[in-house]
Amino acid sequence: MKSYREELWVETQSRRAYMNITPQVEGAIRKSGVTEGLVLVNAMHITASVYINDDEAGLLKDYDEFLEKLAPHDAPYRHNDTGEDNGDAHIKRQIMGRDVTVAITNGQLDFGPWEQIFYGEFDGRRRKRVLIKVIGE
Ligand code: ZN
Repeated sequence: MKSYREELWVETQSRRAYMNITPQVEGAIRKSGVTEGLVLVNAMHITASVYINDDEAGLLKDYDEFLEKLAPHDAPYRHNDTGEDNGDAHIKRQIMGRDVTVAITNGQLDFGPWEQIFYGEFDGRRRKRVLIKVIGE
């Protein structure tokens, strides 16, 4: 069995951002040489998410408005009593999830229609990492 690990570094200009990282994951699969297996992609931070959905600009704004309604940045959070200001980001990450696992078939992501891998940032403007782990034959 082959195994390949890569860290993808991201730094968003805004506090919240939604980035399609599918091309980077496809690049890692090519480098791994795996043609039949699985790829795990996870945020390595507790204020960011990796999830799968459509790359459609309206939907990305809908997510952002939905998450901001559920956990507004300016609301009072006990977590922020520690001196941090990212109580909302921890909750937004929990809603959008930590990781995704995708089948690799014939060296390609075995996706349904419109599926794309996204990095969701909820406390950005600093360097953060995404882990890509590929295993298979
Ligand atoms: Zn925090």
